Amino acid sequence: MFRYEMHCHTLYSSACSRLDAQTMIRLYLENGYDGIVVTDHFLNGNTTVSSGLSWQDRIDGFYKGFELVKEEATKQGLKVFCGLEYSYLGTDFLSYGQDKAFLKAHPEMMAYDVRSWLAFMRSKGFLCVQAHPFREAGYIDHIRLYPSDCEGIETPNSARDDRCNRLGEVLADEYGLLKIGGSDIHRADQKILSGVETSKEVFSLDELIFEIRSGGAKPFLKENVFAENK
Ligand SMILES: [Zn+2]
Ligand SMILES: [Zn+2]
Repeated sequence: MFRYEMHCHTLYSSACSRLDAQTMIRLYLENGYDGIVVTDHFLNGNTTVSSGLSWQDRIDGFYKGFELVKEEATKQGLKVFCGLEYSYLGTDFLSYGQDKAFLKAHPEMMAYDVRSWLAFMRSKGFLCVQAHPFREAGYIDHIRLYPSDCEGIETPNSARDDRCNRLGEVLADEYGLLKIGGSDIHRADQKILSGVETSKEVFSLDELIFEIRSGGAKPFLKENVFAENK
């Protein structure tokens, strides 16, 4: 089995994360992962990137976390791919498949309403998933669900409780959506990790997306042994 993280945050590009490249790489290697998809908060989320910069510079800032992790990880045998987490009033979406050139070419996407953004990304073939759809928090005025606008649901998210994840499971089943797991990790001491596991090793994000779409990738949960060792 090969295990891939689908949802994690670096301190370079996500203002809420404490995870530097070295810690992140050690954490995933010690936990037996083959690869990770870095999904820092996009420019409408909790980003470190100043909104006063040009669009091109903002996209470069968004990619900084991924690039730093990738540079270190490749030497150590961990595969690193890049996704993003888009935010709308505390309702979050993960998108997989876009690259830096695509994002740089489409500054107009920030003016789209959330459903138009999802439709736009999906029209380009990217995999859009609603993250932790049943999360509640003080800054989220209500739970918003977009099952008809997404291809998948993040179920489980190992930073959320069982009820949140069970409800996500029901939503995915009722709408016939793909299921992916993600840790949504921001700190090395998070107790439980998640992701998807495949029987086939993948070498690119496109291959991982293909496995998810064809039923070859299943969500899993595991204890974080890196936190235990500390
Ligand atoms: Zn965050
Ligand atoms: Zn997240």
